[in-house]
Amino acid sequence: MIRTRFAPSPTGYLHIGGLRTALYAYLFAKKHEGKFLIRIEDTDRERLVEDSLKNILDSFVWANISIDEGVLLDNNEITQKGDKGPYIQSERLEIYQEYIKILLEKNDAYHCFCTKERLDEMRKNQEENKLATGYDGHCRNLTKEEVASKLEAGEKSVIRMKMPKEGITVIDDLIRGKVEFKNELIDDQVLIKADGFPTYHFAVVVDDHLMEISHVVRGEEWLASTPKHINLYKMFGWEAPEFAHLSLLINEKKQKLSKRHGDVSVVDYVKKGYLPEAFVNFIAFLGWNPGDDREFFTLEELEKEFDFDKVGKAPAVFNIEKLNWYNKQYIMKMSKEELAKRCGSFFQEKNVDISKFDLAQVVGLEQGRANTLLEIVENTSFIFSLSEYDSTMLVWKKSDREKTKANLEKTIEFLENLTGEWNRENLETTILNWIKEQELGNGDVLWPMRVALSGLRNSPGPLEIASVLGKTETLNRMQQAVDKI
Ligand code: GLU
Repeated sequence: MIRTRFAPSPTGYLHIGGLRTALYAYLFAKKHEGKFLIRIEDTDRERLVEDSLKNILDSFVWANISIDEGVLLDNNEITQKGDKGPYIQSERLEIYQEYIKILLEKNDAYHCFCTKERLDEMRKNQEENKLATGYDGHCRNLTKEEVASKLEAGEKSVIRMKMPKEGITVIDDLIRGKVEFKNELIDDQVLIKADGFPTYHFAVVVDDHLMEISHVVRGEEWLASTPKHINLYKMFGWEAPEFAHLSLLINEKKQKLSKRHGDVSVVDYVKKGYLPEAFVNFIAFLGWNPGDDREFFTLEELEKEFDFDKVGKAPAVFNIEKLNWYNKQYIMKMSKEELAKRCGSFFQEKNVDISKFDLAQVVGLEQGRANTLLEIVENTSFIFSLSEYDSTMLVWKKSDREKTKANLEKTIEFLENLTGEWNRENLETTILNWIKEQELGNGDVLWPMRVALSGLRNSPGPLEIASVLGKTETLNRMQQAVDKI
């Protein structure tokens, strides 16, 4: 059974890179009819951020990535599901204590009593002499008796792993292939801290084993730690999972994505009105591609298509224009009714009274124009309330004030007497014919009408706007424009 996990530390919001890691882990599990689980790695107590766990889980709900096991939201409440729990590391301390005993007994781990001062001094020396930094093994060979007496005397200690000093450790990574590490260069990693909490390295191995994780999918930054993990598996006599280390996400300036250079949290994109299906489609392509020129994939299609042999080693570039393009395409494909629903919370946030207009028609004005739901809401605000605009804007570049006024008045008269349905098609055919009959240019009529109805130079087409505003409001706004001139 394929079992993958995403193991966030609740130290902030879900990062885009985190979502990609989780997505790939999820897709791989789904492809093989396996399970995807979430485990919370909260052993670094100082970095915990309140509400972060709820936020992370909310992002999964938003992205429609369902969690089979572990920590998840049930009716918006954080819960744990599955028989291999608890799935929150701070609730597993006894388990780590039990397993560290095994390594101590086998002499694969040892107590280290070195003080912070000694370690700082050691590091300084190593740096000054340009030696590799790392623990020098000072406590590696203390006798049982020495250890017992120090412990009895109440000396503070950590527990370190006894890394073999010879040989190499090989990782056969699903993305990177074989990667070799010289054991002598690998530190005697702390496994249990002085406060009794495990370090990430110890907890991750114990948990991935006990939770029967078959494939560890994580960021490239963990690759250098993996030989330590593999050695821990060996010490325990456990079979190690497969590993897939994903490349870094970078921006177009080839910098690592970071807050300083723009939005990096999934919630930032939620707030801006990206559609989850477009966002997930875009994220899937950050490192993976189907091997042909298809660009649109639903989550279900990705579940079938995804595989690590199509994931690249090179850093993946996060290109906001590409994301905008995806989002716009998905917005265009959506029915106006569905789009109106998706925009609902954005209208609410802006306190717009949407009761007077057909919202589906309103948002339809921006289909093909706007990139995001937020843009749709912002760009259609003139429908609900017309802002002040300068009367000179009404005058088309090839016209003057007098002609503009006369044309607006004529148009009002024409529209007042217009028979047939007040919709875009009817408006288009009749007005365009009428303009010709009057021997006017389109700009003479449509430009002042655009400004009168929207207060903007750049807006959806005036006849489209008129159809959404309805006859009364359209004529009102045009009359207001006449009065302005
Ligand atoms: N807690 C680690 C993180 O925050 C998980 C790394 C892993 O997946 O092993 O990235």
